[in-house]
Amino acid sequence: MLDIRLAKNSGFCFGVKRAIRLAEETSEKYGKATTIGPIIHNPQMVEKLSRVGVKAVDDIYQITESPVIIRSHGITQENLTILKDKNLEIVDATCPYVARAHEYAISADEENYHIIILGNPTHPEIIALKSRIHSNVQIWDSIEYIEKKEYTKVAVICQTTQNIENLHKLTSLLLPITKELRVFNTICDATNIRQSSSLALATATDLMIVIGGKNSSNTLMLAKLCSELTTTKHIEAANEISKVWFDEVIQKKGCIGLTAGASTPDWIILEIYNKIKAIVGYPNDFAQSIDEIPSYNEEPL
Ligand code: SF4
Repeated sequence: MLDIRLAKNSGFCFGVKRAIRLAEETSEKYGKATTIGPIIHNPQMVEKLSRVGVKAVDDIYQITESPVIIRSHGITQENLTILKDKNLEIVDATCPYVARAHEYAISADEENYHIIILGNPTHPEIIALKSRIHSNVQIWDSIEYIEKKEYTKVAVICQTTQNIENLHKLTSLLLPITKELRVFNTICDATNIRQSSSLALATATDLMIVIGGKNSSNTLMLAKLCSELTTTKHIEAANEISKVWFDEVIQKKGCIGLTAGASTPDWIILEIYNKIKAIVGYPNDFAQSIDEIPSYNEEPL
């Protein structure tokens, strides 16, 4: 019988749940709220929140009224100052793990470390992190591009969604060329746990469906890692599913794996699971909640 499994720890992480809860509470209290950029990297959830008055704007100068919600990625120091100068009421939904990385960056900067950030320089989390550092900072998206010169004091800080292997590689590369190396492992546990659960499932499946925003770093990383192990499709919503993806797995009665990034709501995972069930021939066996979807516990299937 064809098997469909959901990786353990799929979907919303602690920081995203907290941001959504704060947004819902704020909209309930004020009937409206503004976020700078989408509150999370999931267009479907952003659209749902817009229906209860939470709107996203790209330009901070467009914000003229309270309350303003700071999303889980945080905002730059400059934008925070602008909001405070405007005397706007601020609801800070910055994930505590992101805020902790800010604190590490500030202290390393004060102690005159040359700071290397391992992350995507265009990602809002990294732009906000960099804004807390006044000097001596380099951002590396990939360790291939590291400038191999002699360093005296280096502090390494990571984007929370980084892969631990990349951090290992970076520290191995820096150790021989640095007199003092300080490594802040700011990779979030939620990211680590999602990656290892997804990889365990990917090794046992013929097809992985990775669910989450195409603009979500942690989902993109899950899709990249899974694609190194098995055929992988990255989708945001059920309407992107194509029947032909499943022909081979149906024929061999194989296994389909599902996983979802930290900003993917349960209802989207459920919708996709039920659509796949219908495609592969079980239209009368739908799950009513995400808890009813069989998970993968690393036991033989
Ligand atoms: S992935 Fe981690 S750092 Fe990012 S919002 Fe979730 S809990 Fe916070």
